[in-house]
Amino acid sequence: MSLTVPAFPVVRCQIDTATTGSIIMNNAPQPLVATSIQTLRVGVIAFTASIARQMNRPVELNILEPGRDPFRIAVHPDGFTQTISPDRTVPEIPAGDARPIAHAPCRNCGRMVTPTYTYCIHCRTRNPLSVLIGEDA
Ligand SMILES: [Zn+2]
Repeated sequence: MSLTVPAFPVVRCQIDTATTGSIIMNNAPQPLVATSIQTLRVGVIAFTASIARQMNRPVELNILEPGRDPFRIAVHPDGFTQTISPDRTVPEIPAGDARPIAHAPCRNCGRMVTPTYTYCIHCRTRNPLSVLIGEDA
């Protein structure tokens, strides 16, 4: 079985360097900064997962990185990611199968958290994986 990922909304992410880039939604770029490429990537996944939770389904994330072909992934409400096929589908994961989810350090306390946390479970910072410049602390 497969699951279709709708074409709207789509989050676009342009990664410029290992620590900077931008998220583009509705043609409005928002600059990003992170301490590492891993933190930047997981931060973008966390941003997209928050939209997926609002929609209660996976959301497409398009990523442009220097030196790589553009790629499209589905970000699920729990932060699980899958590559989207050309027919806009992803394989359905049977209930009970593993759903590996990337972790990254909280932007305030540096302890590991997952993209589903609205608040850091360690220090209570809001959106602990946010890489948006100007995100309130
Ligand atoms: Zn924290």
